[in-house]
Amino acid sequence: MNSLEKYKKRRDFKKTKEPGPKTGKTDGKIFVLQKHSATHLHFDFRIQIGKVLKSWAVPKGLPKTSNVKRLAILTEDHPLEYANFEGTIPEGEYGAGFVEIVDRGSFDNIKKDKDGKEISLNKCFKNGTIEIFLHGKKINGIYALIKFKDDKSWLLIKVNKNKYERKI
Ligand code: MN
Repeated sequence: MNSLEKYKKRRDFKKTKEPGPKTGKTDGKIFVLQKHSATHLHFDFRIQIGKVLKSWAVPKGLPKTSNVKRLAILTEDHPLEYANFEGTIPEGEYGAGFVEIVDRGSFDNIKKDKDGKEISLNKCFKNGTIEIFLHGKKINGIYALIKFKDDKSWLLIKVNKNKYERKI
């Protein structure tokens, strides 16, 4: 199944101005944090893995302090174009409410194996341990996403840079 099937099924593109479900062609590394004023205000954190944006709903947003753990709920993959989306999702549509971009930029995958070789993002995602360096305008730093309990429940943690360097 195309990983954007769920995204497509949930939306009526005649009604919402959200981008259509086409997969990207690049293998870049972009991230976006969007503030989503839906029924429950939350933040959506998305990072490019392959040709889609892997997406997590983070009720409290990205932590600014090291070692603070935030719950991040894995949601459906979004098309890369979603990183540019801002606007109102109309009443009655999935996720109805206002979406605004808090920050976006590129990131580096910094997860390495014991020999210091980079572990691919796909593998990191499957393993449930992602470590990335975000290069945004406001957000700059190392974050980890760690799967726990079940496939949808992840923890988002800001990693202390010095601690990280000592660890590797
Ligand atoms: Mn959302």
